[in-house]
Amino acid sequence: MEERLKVLRSHLAPFPPGASQSGLVSQTTSAQPREGHADVARPVSVTYHARTGVNSREDYERLHRRSIQDPAGFWADFASDFHWERPWRRDHARWNFDRRCGRVETAFFEGGRTNIAYNCLDRHIASGRGRQPCFLWEGNDIGVDRRMTFEEVRDEVCRLANWLKSVGVRKGDAVAIYMPMVCELPIAMLACARLGAVHTVVFGGFSAESLAQRCADCRSKVVITASGGARATKVVPLKQITDKAVQLASKDGFQIETVLVLEHPSVPKRECPWRQGRDVWYQDVVPRQSSNCPVEWVNSEHPLFLLYTSGSTGKPKGVVHSTGGYMVAAAVTTRYVFDLQPGDVYWCTADCGWITGHSYLAYGPLLCGARSVIYEGVPSHPTPARCWQIVEKYKVRQFYTAPTLIRALEAHDDKFVLGSDRSSLAVLGTVGEPINPRAWNWFFEVVGEGRCPIVDTWWQTETGAAMITPLPGAWPCVPGSATLPFFGVAPVLLDDKGKELHGATEGILALKQAWPSAIRTVKGDHKRFEETYFATFPGYYFTGDGCRRDANGCYTITGRVDDVINVSGHRVGTAEVEAALASHGACTEAAVVGFDHDIKGQGIYAFVTLHDGHEFSDAIRKDLVKTVREQIGAFAAPDVIHWAPGLPKTRSGKIMRRILRKIAAKKDDELGDISTLADPSIVQGIIELRGK
Ligand code: ATP
Ligand code: MG
Repeated sequence: MEERLKVLRSHLAPFPPGASQSGLVSQTTSAQPREGHADVARPVSVTYHARTGVNSREDYERLHRRSIQDPAGFWADFASDFHWERPWRRDHARWNFDRRCGRVETAFFEGGRTNIAYNCLDRHIASGRGRQPCFLWEGNDIGVDRRMTFEEVRDEVCRLANWLKSVGVRKGDAVAIYMPMVCELPIAMLACARLGAVHTVVFGGFSAESLAQRCADCRSKVVITASGGARATKVVPLKQITDKAVQLASKDGFQIETVLVLEHPSVPKRECPWRQGRDVWYQDVVPRQSSNCPVEWVNSEHPLFLLYTSGSTGKPKGVVHSTGGYMVAAAVTTRYVFDLQPGDVYWCTADCGWITGHSYLAYGPLLCGARSVIYEGVPSHPTPARCWQIVEKYKVRQFYTAPTLIRALEAHDDKFVLGSDRSSLAVLGTVGEPINPRAWNWFFEVVGEGRCPIVDTWWQTETGAAMITPLPGAWPCVPGSATLPFFGVAPVLLDDKGKELHGATEGILALKQAWPSAIRTVKGDHKRFEETYFATFPGYYFTGDGCRRDANGCYTITGRVDDVINVSGHRVGTAEVEAALASHGACTEAAVVGFDHDIKGQGIYAFVTLHDGHEFSDAIRKDLVKTVREQIGAFAAPDVIHWAPGLPKTRSGKIMRRILRKIAAKKDDELGDISTLADPSIVQGIIELRGK
C-alpha cells in the first residue's frame, strides 16, 4: 500500500508553473491547438439520429442526473423490461465503498429473483421472436457459417443444462469453459446460467497452467472444451491442453472429474487424446438430452460468473459478477452505447474469454434481441480484407473492436477495406486501451467513411459494463477520448492524497458511487478485493487509471497510473507519447515506459514496431524523436528508442508495460508472470535487440 502511494505521489507531482500540459490536443480544450497533423484529436460531429431518443447532451444530462440522484428508481425503470420471478424491494440499491464503515459491498435489485438465460432467450420466444436468428456464426474458413435462432439456442442451452445436471452440477457450482469461438461457447455460458451454476470462461489461447490454476481456484469439477480450435492456419489442440491442465491441477490436489468435449473439425475424433471414464463427447450425450429444462430462479445477487482480469498489471484477479445488476447494466449499455435495437446485426470481435465477449457478444446483444455475429478466426485471415468482407456479408450495423486490431489493419493498404461494401455500418466502437488519434481517424475516415460515430468505451473487467463512453450522435466524438460517464457512473479525479479535484484537470480516476454491474468480490478473497480497489482511497473505487478532464467535462484516459512518467517534474502520459510515435509514417505501434534517469528522475523509453518495408535505422530513430518533440514538446522526447519486432501483449491485445519496464531497466530476471501473454517468446526477441 505504502509503496503504491509513493508511486502515485511521484506521478502526481503538480505541474511546474508554465509547464505545458502534455496531452492529446483537442481544439475545445487546448489554448494552442496544433494544426496540420493527421493525428490531431479534433472533435468530430457526425449527424446521427439515435433510436434511443438520446440525441443531445441535454437529453443525456437529464437521464444522467436522475441516475445519480435516484439510482434505485432509475435502474428499476430499466429492470422492469425483464422477467423477474419475484420483484425487487423498493430500496433495492445498497453499497458501501468505505472500509472504515464495515464490509465493502454492493447490491442491486435485492429481494428480486430472476434468471439471465431466461431473459436472453425464453423472454424473446414468448414475445414471438423465437424464429429470428440471434447468432450469425462465421467460421475460420471462408464459406463455413451457421445461423441459430433464439429457439434453437434455447433448446441447445436446455439440452446442455440437462447434461450438466446429469453429472451433478448444481446451483452455485463453478464450471470452466475452455472453447474456441463457436456457438457452443455462449451456449455453455447460458446453460450454466440457466441452472444458476457459475461459469468461468478461460480464453482458448491460455496455457494448461493458466487453465489448471483457474479451475483449482474456483473448484470447477467440470470442464467444457473442444477437441481443437482453428485460428487462421493454426490448430489449437484444446483437448490436449485440457488433459495437461487436469494433470497439473491434480498435482495441486484438485480433481477435475468430467471433461465434456465438443468435436471440432480441426481435430477429428480419431486424433483426439482420450481418457475413458472422465471424457465425454458432446455430440454423443448432449443431443440426446431433453430440450426442456426448468429455469433455476436465483436471487439478484447470486453470482453469475467469474472472470479473471487480463493480468496486464499483475497476477490476474478472479472477478465475481452478480446476476440482476449485471443483466440490467449489460443490456442498458448495449442499447444506449451502440444504439442497438431488436434485430440489428451487431459484431463485437472480442473473444468470450474476455469481459467484452461476455457483456457485448453474449449477454448484451441477446438481452436486446439483436443478431450477434460470432467470428471464429482472426480478422486478418486469410487476408486483411476478411473483417470488411464479414461486415459486407452480414450487413453489420454496429462494429466493436480493440485499438490493437485497428492498428494492425491500418498497417495494410486501404484497398483491403475499400474492396468491401461498408454502407451498413452505423456505429463503430473501441475498447481495451487508449486509442491513438491516428488510428482513430483512420477508423473513422476509411472504415466508417466519415459518417459513423465512434464510441471509445472505457471500462474494466471489474466494472462489467461500459462506464465512460460517447453516446452516438448525442455529442461530438473526440479522437482518443471516452468523453462522458454513462448513466449511474460518478467519476472523480483525485490527487495523490485522495482529494477530489474540480474543473479541467488531471488526476487518478476513481468512482464514488456503485453501479449495478460492479464487481462484487474477488473469488475466495474478499480481503484482496477490499485492498485492491478500496484501500488506496477510502470511500472510492480505485480504477488504477490516470485521466484528464477538460472544460467540457469530457474524460480522456491517459493510461495506467503506474504508467505516467515524471520527467524533470513534467508529467508525461505514456499514451500520449505512444500516439505521437504512432503518427509517424513508419511506425505501427509504440509502447512507452519510464526508467530511472540520473538527471531527469525518470527518462522515457520507447519500444516501437515498424510497418512492413521499413527498416530500423538511425535516421528513423531521430525522426521518431523529432515527431514527439514537435507534437508534445521537447520534455517528452524519448531518451531511448528500442526497435522491437513485436510488443508483448495480453491475450486481449493489451500491451504489458510492466514487462517492458523490466527490460528497459535491464532487470531481465524479474519479468514476473508472463503466462498470460499471447506470445511469451516475443520477450526474448526484444531483449536481444536492446542497445541495437
Ligand atoms: P489487470 O487488472 O489484471 O492488470 P487489465 O486491467 O488489463 O488486467 P481489463 O479489465 O481487461 O484487465 O482492462 C481494463 C483496463 O483497460 C482499464 O483499466 C484501462 O486501463 C484499459 N482500458 C479499457 N478500455 C479503455 C479505453 N477505452 N481507453 C483507455 N483505456 C482503456
Ligand atoms: Mg485492471
